Amino acid sequence: MKFKQSKTRTAFVGIATGALILASSQMAMAAGEAKNVILMISDGQGFNTVKATDYFTGTQGVYESFAIKGSMNTSSAGSSGGYTGIPYNPAQMWANFNYQKSGATDSASAATAMYTGVKNYDNQLNMTTSGAQLTTFFEMAASQGKATGAVSTVNFDHATPAAVVANTTNRNDYTTITSQMINSNLDVIMGAGHPLYNNNGQAVAANYSIVGNQANWDAITSGANGRTFIDSLSSFEALADGTMNSNKVFGIAQVRDTIQDSRTGAPTAPLNTNVPNLTTMTQGALNVLDNNTNGFAVMIEGGAVDWANHANGLKRSIDEQIDFNNSVQTVVDYLNAGTNGNDWSNTLLIVTADHETGGLWGPVAGTFNQVVDNGAGNLPGAAYNSGGHTNTLVPFYAKGADADLFLNYLNGVDENMDNMYGIDTAFNSYIDNTNIFQVMNTANSNPVPVPGSVLLLGSGLVGLAGFGRRFRQAA
Ligand SMILES: [Zn+2]
Repeated sequence: MKFKQSKTRTAFVGIATGALILASSQMAMAAGEAKNVILMISDGQGFNTVKATDYFTGTQGVYESFAIKGSMNTSSAGSSGGYTGIPYNPAQMWANFNYQKSGATDSASAATAMYTGVKNYDNQLNMTTSGAQLTTFFEMAASQGKATGAVSTVNFDHATPAAVVANTTNRNDYTTITSQMINSNLDVIMGAGHPLYNNNGQAVAANYSIVGNQANWDAITSGANGRTFIDSLSSFEALADGTMNSNKVFGIAQVRDTIQDSRTGAPTAPLNTNVPNLTTMTQGALNVLDNNTNGFAVMIEGGAVDWANHANGLKRSIDEQIDFNNSVQTVVDYLNAGTNGNDWSNTLLIVTADHETGGLWGPVAGTFNQVVDNGAGNLPGAAYNSGGHTNTLVPFYAKGADADLFLNYLNGVDENMDNMYGIDTAFNSYIDNTNIFQVMNTANSNPVPVPGSVLLLGSGLVGLAGFGRRFRQAA
């Protein structure tokens, strides 16, 4: 409580003297260390996904040791004609176990918030609540001459990767989304979503609904917009090991909905062997994107953690999170090595989630209790409490160029996070998901002024005071 009050007071001192406004505008000009921005999203990953995976593997994701970390509010504007989105409320969260299950965002609005800094309605990609089209951070980066990409373990036109460039009020309109992605500036598109294969990676009769229609598929495979089309595992591997080179790639693994999670059989069923993992796709994507000397911006998603959590499948959720963790390690290794001149001094890496899925807690269902460590190689003690998304805070971790910009946005406080989850006290402070955009845009070595921030600065004290008040209500 004391901490929260002191932070609020500091903010108001800043507003009263105008220092905060000055600091913000100076930051927008003086920052910009990041030639490259890498946003990695584990879709549906809550704190207990991270914890369960750590217990199962007997180790930690490399991002957990990043110096910059905290929690993040994921609320959206709500749904069009439905519920009204309300920011996370710590008091209500811990007073009522079922609170977390209502009013949760979906992946479309969550991605829009992170990529554009604007909260919109669920199921809509980069459209404002009044129907205007939004420009994403990645599109801004492309307009600056940087290479851009979207990579996922689910179909490439699913909400989180689609939102990198698409604008639509219907996230399920794969005809429009795929067409927009084909015609976009994206230099790398990779994921599942192959219309000629099933979820077990077996060739089947064509079913084009996953890409909208056959015309889209024909455009992709014929190299529309200058992209090299690849779909075989050997091609993905060649791109990753550098024996194949290209400046523009559309890679669709030979599988339909997800790389692995949707395969039939027991949770432990053998993996599809004809498809790349996220590590291979990530390495391949970096090899393509870093051909551009202006830098790059890419979103890399562990997309199926969400799907496994929807199905309350802990083993498969952990498997998907391991795949995600390995791909983060690949990025870290790439930057540690200073590959192609890209290192922590000129690259911002953000690792986060768009929302939690499944209401995963410890083994006693229906109550707050911590996940139990049963030793490496054994499933941890845990129980799902929902088949859908929840509005709990999710973790974010950042490292590299301008990662400390996140410290400016840690305005929410939930003093129970560390106790309830058994996690670092750093997670007792939280940002809003729209702050992901603000940090990426400010860190970008060639930031573009966005209408939102101009408006905020223009409206001066009133706008900032309102901003502070929103966070106090949330906290
Ligand atoms: Zn979901």
